[in-house]
Parts: sequence; structure tokens; C-alpha cells
Amino acid sequence: MPYSQEVYHLAKERLSERRQQALRAADYRREQLYQELPVLRDINNELMTIGASIAKCVVKSDSRLSIKELSERSLTLQAEQDTILAEHNIDKDILEPRFTCEKCDDTGYIEKDNRTEVCDCLLRLMAEIAGEQLSTDLPLKESTFASFRLDYYSTEPDSNGKIPFNRMSNIYNYCVNYADTFNEHSKSILMRGSTGLGKTHLSLAIANEVIKKGVSVIYVSAPEIFSKLEREHFNYRYADQEDTFNSLVKCDLLILDDLGTEFVSPFTTSCVYNLFNSRILAGKPTIINTNMQLNELIQAYSQRFVSRLIGSCDRLDFIGEDIRTEE
Ligand SMILES: [Zn+2]
Repeated sequence: MPYSQEVYHLAKERLSERRQQALRAADYRREQLYQELPVLRDINNELMTIGASIAKCVVKSDSRLSIKELSERSLTLQAEQDTILAEHNIDKDILEPRFTCEKCDDTGYIEKDNRTEVCDCLLRLMAEIAGEQLSTDLPLKESTFASFRLDYYSTEPDSNGKIPFNRMSNIYNYCVNYADTFNEHSKSILMRGSTGLGKTHLSLAIANEVIKKGVSVIYVSAPEIFSKLEREHFNYRYADQEDTFNSLVKCDLLILDDLGTEFVSPFTTSCVYNLFNSRILAGKPTIINTNMQLNELIQAYSQRFVSRLIGSCDRLDFIGEDIRTEE
């Protein structure tokens, strides 16, 4: 199991809550229906009595004839029930619980070739919960596309003759389109530029949109996540370390903010490379934000890492003045 016991239990709890809710809703529909059409309650009561009698017959190995009769009566009753429902234009499945996952009925497990397997929905829930535990204090609500202020960027050319407003409009449109069309094959993005130019805001705006589509997103700042991984590593808490690393690799979209502001050590450089590389191999997109120049990135990490980065990312270069002072 690639997740900790805690994550597993929380996921099971959520799943069981889903199942209970589906069952309660079905009970409620049944009660409403029986109040409207009491004859269905009578049919149901008789069906239950027959079910119990058949069970008794089987246990006692009583005469087969009686089982046959009971089964026939049961089929007649079921047909009667279907007819009544059809006459009232009521869906035949009204009494069936509507589970979120049709594969496992929200139990988290499926039987396959005489073996019990963990259902995708439980795996997905575990990834989600592990992600929530990592993405603490995510300032999601404030960081939307709607709240991004393009008018803070200058319409005057900078020293390189580039107009920040135009550049940022392009970047903004790129990000809106990226979120709109996001899928498992989306490219990774390298957002580069000085602090306070909106890299975090736009990457969280992307997160906001894709989360609505059910995409699992983890947002972490480099200093926090690498000190966490380092602590777990050197305290020999390998299980925790594996847990953290797995969640980072497995989420649909990873946003790694402020790369280069962490304490750079041989441990972190290899960690950064492994993380990014594992995600590329798994075909999963990553958004990396940094205020380092490319040559600084090469110095801090390695030529190998930066080549991999450039080869697999769309690059967005943010320019302008720190907009936080304008705000
Ligand atoms: Zn399932």
C-alpha cells in the first residue's frame, strides 16, 4: 500500500459515508413511494416473507416443490411491482441505491478472478486526501482568474523594449486556455520571473479551475516540501518520506512554487531531479515557479535537470514591476 494507515483510514471513512448516504437516500425514496402507492409495500412485505421461507427451506433441505412454488410467486410479485411502477411512469430503479462508484458500490473493493482488488475510487480518494494533507493553507479562494489584475502591469516599454501589459496578457490567456483544456497529457509549465509578478496567483488560478473537473492537485512551496522530505529522510522515517514523495508523484497536477528559495543541498538537488523526472516518466504535468535565471538554475541544480526542464515545459517569462506594491 503506497499510502499511510492514516490516509487509508480517512479514505475508507469518506467512502463509507458515501455508501451510507446512498443507502439512506434509497430508504427515503422507498418510504415516499410506499406512502404514495401502499400496494407496493404489501408486495415488498410478501417478497421478504418468501425470501425468508426460501432460506429456511434450503437450510432444512425441505421439499424442492415448495421452493419452486415460492420462486414462482416471487417472480409474479416482482412482475406485478414492475407493472405498477410502469403504469405510474416511475423508473424501475427507483428503489436501488445510487452509489457514487458503480464498480464497487462504494465499498472500495471489487471481486475479480476470485481475488479482491482495491477499486480505483479508493485509490483516487487516498491520493486526494494525501494531497489535501500536503497542500495546507492553500490560498485558493483569493487566487482566481477573475481576481487577477492585468491593469497593474505597465503599458510602457521596459528597458528591453518589451511592454509588460502585453506580455502578461499573453501569459494570462495561455493560463486560462491551459486550465480550460487541461487533461492528463497537458504539458508542464516553467513560470519564471522576479518575485511578485503573479506566478503564484496564476498557477493557483489554474488549480482552482482544474479542481472543479475532479483533477487532483497538490500545491507545495519548495522550501517547505524539501525541508519536510529532508527531515523525514534524516530521521529515518522512510515510510513517511515515501508517502510524501508518492503523493507528489501521483497527483494529476503538481505545482511546485518558489523553486530555488529552498536551502540547496545535494539532498534537495537530487530530490528535485527525481521528483520532476518521475512525473515526466509517469506522463504527468508539473507547474514549476522560480525567480531564478536559467544559468542560476543550472548552477543550483544541474545541466541535466535544466535540460530536462526546458525539454518538457512550456516557458512563461513574467516581466514588469512587483505588482504587490501596486496592490
Ligand atoms: Zn469504486
